[in-house]
Amino acid sequence: MMQISDTLKRPLHDLRISVTDRCNFRCTYCMPKEIFGGEHIFLAREELLTFEQIKRLANIFVLLGVRKIRLTGGEPLLRKEIELLISMLAEIPGLELAMTTNGALLANKAQMLRDAGLNRITVSLDSIDDATFKAMNDVNFPVQRVLDGIEAAKQVGLNPIKVNMVVKRGVNDQDILGMASYFRGTGHTVRFIEYMDVGATNGWKLDDVVSAQEIVATIQKEYEIEPINPNYRGEVARRWRYKDGHGEIGMISSVTQPFCGSCTRARLSAKGQLYTCLFGTKGYDLRALIRDGSSDEVIRATLTQHWRQRIDRYSELRTEQTTDLPKVEMSYIGG
Ligand code: SAM
Repeated sequence: MMQISDTLKRPLHDLRISVTDRCNFRCTYCMPKEIFGGEHIFLAREELLTFEQIKRLANIFVLLGVRKIRLTGGEPLLRKEIELLISMLAEIPGLELAMTTNGALLANKAQMLRDAGLNRITVSLDSIDDATFKAMNDVNFPVQRVLDGIEAAKQVGLNPIKVNMVVKRGVNDQDILGMASYFRGTGHTVRFIEYMDVGATNGWKLDDVVSAQEIVATIQKEYEIEPINPNYRGEVARRWRYKDGHGEIGMISSVTQPFCGSCTRARLSAKGQLYTCLFGTKGYDLRALIRDGSSDEVIRATLTQHWRQRIDRYSELRTEQTTDLPKVEMSYIGG
């Protein structure tokens, strides 16, 4: 029998759901405090999708082929009772549940997340050096707090853990080797991410981007590494392994080696807008459709149509000029 997913032009495997636009970090490359500081107005609770609405949409996305949902934000651990949402989503058969977090609240919450049914976690950490970490994320606690979160996640079995490091030239590129060395042999995979022009507020310049090629070269000064095959088609991180068997690292090179052609990812923003590209300028208002009382069939047909019509491939078209487009902010769409 033909699956609904067979009718879609390109497979839809992953769904990212931003559960809040709030964050306890003000990363210079994501939510600069000049824009997201004291005066910024975040979404009111009633503007966010409820857990019931998220679950309903998740069920429909699963019918279209989605096999993995990642909760993100803002900072997902700031969404009240996030564990309840996880337990609701965990009732959907055949779904892998993941989360991306800055790790600041993870030490206390790891067990609860695991018990609720979370399968995987990615922790963002841009430096192993306290001064760089604090400056980049505008926080006043040490890296150790995030490391404690990673350790707690490991202890409860959320393994293997991925650690995301966004590399920005002149800001934290001196810590590439430090991060690689710290996590080498721990079983956790550091993924080095090229700094991207997400949103319209981070003042992105091409000169700030440290390419994956440069990052690899930096690591090769100290360690012998070699590329390895992807785990699955459409994997965004290019995998490398230490030749001496001390684990692997990943390179996410969406600026210098875009991977739009194999993108299987849809995104739901904190206020229920559907985006088929991280760099989208306009989302489709799924929240309105839900609040209008549309049936599952109507929502499913709308999603199918949207996914089939998608032509976005921003990273392949990026120039210095496209950077100023009014793209959705990372805190709304969640990376
Ligand atoms: N608050 C959570 C966190 O810090 O992981 C989830 C949201 S955050 C927007 C998701 C991921 O996007 C993080 O790994 C973050 O480092 C990455 N990110 C944010 N802005 C970025 C940018 N301009 N370029 C590349 N990655 C970015």
